[in-house]
Amino acid sequence: MTSLAERYEAVVCDLDGVVYRGPSAVRHAVEALDALSIPVVYATNNASRTPAEVAAHLGALGVTCTAEQVVTSSDAAAWLLTDEVAPGAEVLAVGGAGVAVALEAAGFVPVRADGAAERAVPAAVVQGYGPAVSAADLAEAAYAVEAGARWVATNTDATLPTDRGVAPGNGSLVAAVARAVGHDPAVVAGKPHPPLYLLAAARLDLDVSRVLAVGDRLDTDIEGARRAGMDSLLVLTGVDDLEAAVGAPTEQRPTFIAPDLRWLHRDPDAGEPSLTALGTAVERARDAPPDEDSRLVEAYSLLSGLSGE
Ligand SMILES: [Mg+2]
Repeated sequence: MTSLAERYEAVVCDLDGVVYRGPSAVRHAVEALDALSIPVVYATNNASRTPAEVAAHLGALGVTCTAEQVVTSSDAAAWLLTDEVAPGAEVLAVGGAGVAVALEAAGFVPVRADGAAERAVPAAVVQGYGPAVSAADLAEAAYAVEAGARWVATNTDATLPTDRGVAPGNGSLVAAVARAVGHDPAVVAGKPHPPLYLLAAARLDLDVSRVLAVGDRLDTDIEGARRAGMDSLLVLTGVDDLEAAVGAPTEQRPTFIAPDLRWLHRDPDAGEPSLTALGTAVERARDAPPDEDSRLVEAYSLLSGLSGE
């Protein structure tokens, strides 16, 4: 028997909807992650928290994790700049603490907007989410971009789910600056764009083909994995369900679909039903006419068989 995890040399794991949901750990996640014998890197589009904060959060849930095992979209944005901007250059940091900490770790001098018109134009702008980002901060970003600074967005998630509803996410704030300057950022670091996953593979010192990406969202985690050249596992513990997986366009189709993280430790081809049988049923459902009521029945029946215990 070869478990899913044993087919790879490392796992790159999403957080929200995979490891935790709101204040609680996702069922089976902590035990499954701790039992892995291959390295795990946690990769999150959330740009506002620092890797140390994320690691502490995971630790509180019972997941063994160091700050070195966490890559954020801020880290990926700063990493991208190392190819283009000289070490020690000033970079305008828009967003939470995560942005400035990532820039510093990559050898840059993060600067904050202070409204001073005489300040030199920064070499680049890294724009990430922060709950305190203001219209004045967005204005400073626009001024710097208009003056020629390279503009990198950590991520472009349009919305941010909160306990009170849906708030504008970094994508909406980036869109505000884009509207003002008349063009999009030069590059976006977070999923579904490849840099965050590529940074994770670089951290692991592994080729992307040896890494399995795990996530709960087709349009970020899975599409990003495909674009980065990684195989992927969609777990149905977060945003997307089996019906969404059936309806996913080609570029968002995962290599594997499983009810939860326990399946990292099981052979996808073994058992009755098997994970592979579920994958085949999903493919069959995709081929069926979309208005055929029965097309999802087989896939859902296999899923319920796989979800037991
Ligand atoms: Mg997620």
